[in-house]
Amino acid sequence: MSEFVLLRMALRREHDIFVIRQRGREVAAAVGLEHQDQIRLATALSDVARLLLPVPGDADVAFVAQMGTPPRLVVEIVAGPGAAALLDGGPAGRLVHTMEVDGDEHATRVRLVSRLPIGAVPLTEERIAHLRREVAANEPGTPLDELAVQNRELMSALEEVRAQRDELAETNQGVMALYNELSQELEETNRGVVALYNELDEKSAQLKAASEAKSRFLANVSHELRAPVTAVIGLTRLLADSGSDPLTGEQARHVDLIRGSATDLLTLVNDLLDLAKAEAGRLEPVWAEVDLRALFGQLRGTARAIITRPDVELVVADPPAGSTVTADEALLAQVLRNLLTNAIKFTERGTVSMSLRAATGQDGWEIEVADTGIGIPPELHERIFEEFYQVPGSSTGRTGTGLGLPYAQRLVTLLGGSLHLTSEPGKGSVFTVVLPRRPMPPAPAQRDEG
Ligand code: ADP
Repeated sequence: MSEFVLLRMALRREHDIFVIRQRGREVAAAVGLEHQDQIRLATALSDVARLLLPVPGDADVAFVAQMGTPPRLVVEIVAGPGAAALLDGGPAGRLVHTMEVDGDEHATRVRLVSRLPIGAVPLTEERIAHLRREVAANEPGTPLDELAVQNRELMSALEEVRAQRDELAETNQGVMALYNELSQELEETNRGVVALYNELDEKSAQLKAASEAKSRFLANVSHELRAPVTAVIGLTRLLADSGSDPLTGEQARHVDLIRGSATDLLTLVNDLLDLAKAEAGRLEPVWAEVDLRALFGQLRGTARAIITRPDVELVVADPPAGSTVTADEALLAQVLRNLLTNAIKFTERGTVSMSLRAATGQDGWEIEVADTGIGIPPELHERIFEEFYQVPGSSTGRTGTGLGLPYAQRLVTLLGGSLHLTSEPGKGSVFTVVLPRRPMPPAPAQRDEG
């Protein structure tokens, strides 16, 4: 890296403190330092000069231009020994980019470095020669001139500080206004959210109340309907009884139709009542140790009695002796009966089977009811668990209310388990009841506070 001395001077007497300040500013301006940095360097130099003046002997000052990247202006001062401690850590170091001080028994050396700004006129040799001539041509002014310059600098610095302070105050005001606006907005949003939550709470309480009212209504209505429907069925029996007055053929057919319809109605009413009871939380499982082998045997008998098609084979595998589960036997039997009845109802030929195996990943059982019947399209696997839903076309020629599966699912949930389905149209369906061997005691019903 090449460097060129722009100016040399000596520090001998008090007057030189003004001279070095003045020269420093001139050189700094000539090499392209910004106005503020010119004042900084000039101030640093006069401070260093003030401290060095009492040191015996002259001090030599050299202003050096370095053509590196970035280009720098370095002021090198060599003074008598013993002054390093005076300068180290002083305010001058904070005014320039770096200030290095070192000393030995012969001399104290100080280097003040200022980086030239990017975009300053490049320091070519030609330019440095020009700068040298320019600096040499300037005659140092009197201390009074320098004082006047310093005053001007001080005033403009003070002016600048005030402007900055005003700007800062303005910015602060702006920030405060923004902050207030934001916190107001936040507060409003919060109020909105709280209101929304309250509304949601209210709505869900309303929904709960409506659903409870519906269940109560269903339970009451179906209960009230049961007696008259049962009476109608009884009366049709009476009419058809051999002890009664004989009926014409036409009359006998009508009475048969009435009995058939009334029986369907009773099934619907009973199903509705069951479901409504389960939904209203009025079903309390009677927990006991259920012998699964015995239960399977009982269901085998029931299923066999309802199979009417010769091409359907029933396979109920005996569970290993001693297989038990903690459950409500009547409710569990009801679930499996519903699944078996469906399997038999929707299977023209093939097999309907029921089997037991240990559940994977938990202490429990999986009871699988499988058939080779009409199957259920995958997009309806959830819908068939909704009340009254029947797969379109599946019920032609079959009886049913669409309440069996939702009821079965309620009961399985009540027993602490879950009900799953895999099925493919045309191939068959597999309903799986997963039951924990020891269900958690049911959580106490939640009460509304207040
Ligand atoms: P229901 O059998 O009284 O119609 P469910 O709630 O038990 O009512 O069943 C709802 C619907 O699900 C049935 O109508 C039928 O479309 C379909 N489904 C249930 N089980 C089977 C099955 N094993 N195979 C084919 N479809 C079934």
